[in-house]
Amino acid sequence: MNDLLAKYKEIALLGKIHSLMGWDTEVNMPPKGAASRGEQSALLTSISVDKWLDPEFKKLLNKAFSKKNLSLKEKAIVRNLKRASNIYYKIPKELLVKESKLTSKAFVTWAKSREENDFKSFAPYLEELLKISREVAEHLGYKDNPYDALLDLYEPGLTAKFCEDLFNRLTPELSHLSLELKSPKKPKLLRLPIESQKELAIFVLNQMGYDFSAGRMDVAPHPFETTLGRFDVRITNRYSDSSLEGLTGAMHEGGHALYEQGVNEKFEYTPLDHGVSLGIHESQSRFWENIIGRSSEFAKYIAPKYKLTQKDLYNLLNQVKPGMIRVDADEVTYNLHVALRFEIENDLINGKIKVQDLPEIWNSKMKKYLGITPKNNSEGLLQDVHWSHNSFGYFPTYTLGNLYSAQWRFYMQKELNIKKLVEKGDFKPILDWLRRNIHQYGSLYYPGELVKKVTGENLNPRYFLDYIKEKYQTSH
Ligand code: MG
Repeated sequence: MNDLLAKYKEIALLGKIHSLMGWDTEVNMPPKGAASRGEQSALLTSISVDKWLDPEFKKLLNKAFSKKNLSLKEKAIVRNLKRASNIYYKIPKELLVKESKLTSKAFVTWAKSREENDFKSFAPYLEELLKISREVAEHLGYKDNPYDALLDLYEPGLTAKFCEDLFNRLTPELSHLSLELKSPKKPKLLRLPIESQKELAIFVLNQMGYDFSAGRMDVAPHPFETTLGRFDVRITNRYSDSSLEGLTGAMHEGGHALYEQGVNEKFEYTPLDHGVSLGIHESQSRFWENIIGRSSEFAKYIAPKYKLTQKDLYNLLNQVKPGMIRVDADEVTYNLHVALRFEIENDLINGKIKVQDLPEIWNSKMKKYLGITPKNNSEGLLQDVHWSHNSFGYFPTYTLGNLYSAQWRFYMQKELNIKKLVEKGDFKPILDWLRRNIHQYGSLYYPGELVKKVTGENLNPRYFLDYIKEKYQTSH
């Protein structure tokens, strides 16, 4: 096991170097640096793929895999390594290279197509990417549905059937609720200089428990969190003088970062040293952004600093209205956007619908779930970058995050008076609960095991629906 972990440490370190380059690309790099950065990145990828494919590494991994009497931690290490290495062992390298070349072109084409509202130029790329995704699924293997193999890449054990059942429970109630609710008139935001907003974001992050001596916050066009080491967990944020995105973004990325800063220190450089899945990760960011950050108690606590009344701040943070764009969607309608993507991806991967018919299918599903129709493809199916990255199977993890966060809330409430704590800005007991129940374990448990361990039951969408109804049917 020690030999295996020593070899893995090199892969892990290369990964962190790659992340550092990625952080620099987003935060600091001048535009003309892109080409050389691309070459540096390609070299690092190839070195790390070779390390995965190293026969000695493979031998050590198989030896560990066949060993009996492994401890819980060792079992998890081997399981996670097996899972990660499958991509390199099962998918031919040529296919991975082909995918990587195609996605860089597809990304550029997508960006242009979206800008010019020209789906026709992106469509052939989408066809090619789908072909590759189907091949990848065949190589990885699946039981019922090729889409399962892709979903599992982002959330261990996730299947199309599971998503279908989830969305069947969610969509009718959420659709109904979104039409029924009348949002209060949007109050005018008192214009707060960007500098003050930055200071406030730092203040809130400190209150949440984010450790700035083991992290930092910079400005970037797309907010993200990146882990460069156990004690170097960075976030980025963006600000606008006419919205509160500097606050909600800091709390969202801060939630991701707290998870990473809370993993057991002994797991460093093992395959347990990070959040276990996209869904669980997003449950941490959405917990802080929505459940805490969009609550009326938090509004009460923070409103004076924004020179607003509690009511105005709350209303600014909680406008419910069906809109075209997923990333701007409120808590009620957000998952409807994801449901639509899921259905379309499932049908695309299974060859039930054609790429050329997508605009029409998209519009009819928007009408069905959100009651609105995009005026063009740019604000319709071209809005998100994911397909150009060939990330089929990614979208459902956003909904999983929302659902998990509500389930954590329900069980946390049995032990803590969340409302009282938030009103006082006393977040420590809340962070401690998350640390104790979720963060410390890193990737020791798979998502399904973790939710069972923490709450005694499987993921249950009831908690999210109850949370939404309690919040929006009583407050307006
Ligand atoms: Mg996120």
